[in-house]
Amino acid sequence: MISALEQYDPQVYELLQQEAARQSGCIRLIPSENYVSKAVMAATGSCMTNKYAEGYPGKRYYEGQQITDLIESIAIERAKKLFGADHVNVQSHSGAVANMAGYSAVAAVGDTIMGLSLPHGGHLSHGWNVSLTSKVFNSVSYEVDPETGLFDFNKIEELAKKHRPKIIITGASAYPRKIDFKTFGQIAKSVDAYHLSDIAHISGLVVAGIHQSPVPYADIVSTTTHKTLRGPRGGMLLCKEELAKAVDKAVFPGLQGGPHMHTISALAVALKEADSPEFVAYAKQVVRNAKVLADCLMEKGFKLFSGGTDNHLILIDLRNKEIPGKKLSKALDRARIVTNYNTIPGDPAKPFNPNGLRLGTPAITTRGMKEEQMKLLADFISTVAENLDNENTIAQVGEKVLLLCSEFPVPEHFIIPPKKFPFI
Ligand SMILES: *Cc1c(COP(=O)(O)O)cnc(C)c1O
Repeated sequence: MISALEQYDPQVYELLQQEAARQSGCIRLIPSENYVSKAVMAATGSCMTNKYAEGYPGKRYYEGQQITDLIESIAIERAKKLFGADHVNVQSHSGAVANMAGYSAVAAVGDTIMGLSLPHGGHLSHGWNVSLTSKVFNSVSYEVDPETGLFDFNKIEELAKKHRPKIIITGASAYPRKIDFKTFGQIAKSVDAYHLSDIAHISGLVVAGIHQSPVPYADIVSTTTHKTLRGPRGGMLLCKEELAKAVDKAVFPGLQGGPHMHTISALAVALKEADSPEFVAYAKQVVRNAKVLADCLMEKGFKLFSGGTDNHLILIDLRNKEIPGKKLSKALDRARIVTNYNTIPGDPAKPFNPNGLRLGTPAITTRGMKEEQMKLLADFISTVAENLDNENTIAQVGEKVLLLCSEFPVPEHFIIPPKKFPFI
């Protein structure tokens, strides 16, 4: 049967088919990406996209909320149970918006916020200079120790005492080690700062009990819903009861208008999935895969930032190999291995031409890959790195990747990859 999309807009339909084929026929190692289930996809593409629901369950500004109230309440209750949080807001359109709402719930324009600097693994929205968060607030950054890859809590405490921030932000986008949220919470308390913990990357590991949860140690927790948590694209805020009103007001009407009810419906589904033994098994395998991939890469002579990983993410420091990160990530993309180039903490190279490569295992773990496949992947990555200008070898690796992909089909998205991609 021809779908409505195929019939009405064959051009966009064809491009979506090609993107589905790309996602199926490539090894996706971008640590913030994943594959959602067919159930999550169905809710995302549902009639809820047609509905306005400004406000919160029971207190809306439009009529016709018989179903939206029920759905949003289900999403909230599921998130509260899963994270053990007093209060949850599921309306943020994205992680960056959730952060801005979290800050504005407890800080005023001009107040000081203190987060991990971007080149040290923090996120743009943690007060980096190109982000609005650094213009609305006075932003101070802390760093990781570039030698050990760990946080020097004495230094961070000193910085906090000096600047007396209103908010200390924890969490990262490119940090391969566990984060001690408890100690960060104590530092925040000692300077009367709020502690906002952003677990966008690791929330799936947190709900599975593999990473310490910041919920007991933070005033506000923000997260995306689409990374290791494996839900639709969006953001979420968790907080203590005392801050519930302030957080809700900061999201709506503070920053947003109507919530995306189709996304919230899909989030409810994803939270149900995350509350299962299968999800815990997936999350454990994500970390095991990352560890094995890290070990295999080190055996091939790659140097890893901090010497390995505790989570889903690996940061390769390419300086010993004298390979630019961008050149390697582009060559890997031609071999159907999708990664992203990244700065290495302490490396003065510019963010647009850095010496690092960031890899993650959530998406390939969702496809069912295990330790054995990580060895193959390390082999592929090493072969490409040693043959950056040899297109024949790169194409041969691409063939092997395609074969591997066919053995691990995208679950619940059954699409057979075509032989040839239009962009390769
Ligand atoms: C990805 C990420 C975000 C931003 O999420 P978007 O949905 O892309 O806005 C915020 N914080 C951290 C730590 C992230 O890794």
